[in-house]
Amino acid sequence: MPTNVERDITTTYTTVNSQNRDSGTIVTEIKEALAADQALSAAQVMHCINTVDLPTLKELCHEITALYASAQVSLCSISNVKSGQCSEDCKWCAQSRYYQTGAQSYEVKDGSQCTQEAEHCYKQGVEMFSFVASGRKQSKMELQALFNTIDTVRQNVPIRLCASLGLLSYDELVELKSYGIERYHCNLETAPSFFASLCSRHSQQDKIRCLKDARKAGLDLCSGGIIGMGESEEQRLELACALRDIEIKSIPINVLHPIAGTPLEKQAPLTKEEILRTVCIFRLINPDAHLRFAGGRALLSEDVINEAIYCGINAAIVGDLLTTLGSDIATDRARFSAHHYDLPPIPQMQVTI
Ligand code: SF4
Repeated sequence: MPTNVERDITTTYTTVNSQNRDSGTIVTEIKEALAADQALSAAQVMHCINTVDLPTLKELCHEITALYASAQVSLCSISNVKSGQCSEDCKWCAQSRYYQTGAQSYEVKDGSQCTQEAEHCYKQGVEMFSFVASGRKQSKMELQALFNTIDTVRQNVPIRLCASLGLLSYDELVELKSYGIERYHCNLETAPSFFASLCSRHSQQDKIRCLKDARKAGLDLCSGGIIGMGESEEQRLELACALRDIEIKSIPINVLHPIAGTPLEKQAPLTKEEILRTVCIFRLINPDAHLRFAGGRALLSEDVINEAIYCGINAAIVGDLLTTLGSDIATDRARFSAHHYDLPPIPQMQVTI
């Protein structure tokens, strides 16, 4: 059954397209709609993407980013605080117990190890540190071990804290907040119409429930997805709209890094053009969000990274990622700085003589 967004694309797209307007008119209409505080429809964005050439599209999205998105880059880092042996079957994931990937498997890291990691990030001007644990959700014992670790970090490093611990209940999210966690992360991963092809053991609705409970518990939200898993461009647009529907303002965009042993190990990489068009789609649909470069960045050329920043990326997960290498913090800061973004300050450390 088509989702609302699919219906919007397929029914309205025919009408919009038949008007055969030129690229300049479309660009003007988009600017006027945003200036009037009107959200763009999926059909409008699809028509724009299919009519306007890439250089013009990039300029449009650059202008929209400058006008509506934050000039302050948001940098966060993650710690894989519990890894592997996950009961779920997400086809992209190295940590599922269904696939032989050789990914590391360990229980909850202790507080001192995470404190060292968080301190390293804090000293380099990373504003938020996120605890990420594998699994559909956490057992009572695991959750208590996670709370202890989070508490140790909170007492030792003045960095803001985020967590991504699976499909926690409302009560668990309330308790998590009491340990100083400010933001909860749970990716929608892909379009509503594609999710069931990639994961059979939980639904995207489960994720939306968790995000809404996290908001009700007083937490900020972070949610995005992975592109290049076999979805169509319309489905990337569908994901961008689904995130807008639940008012997500921090959106990680991962590019699939195919992992040997997973069902997606042979997935063909996206082209440079597909990646940039996706960033533009996300920027048009979510003009004021932080669009966050996340996993898969190590596979991209410097050229693509810079163009993606130019047309809309204004945040990043820096440092190493869950099961793949990311990029070093200083390099990412320099990249954003070259695009005249404001960066989180490097804290002045006390010098002992
Ligand atoms: S993405 Fe999360 S829930 Fe899915 S298999 Fe990986 S760790 Fe488990």
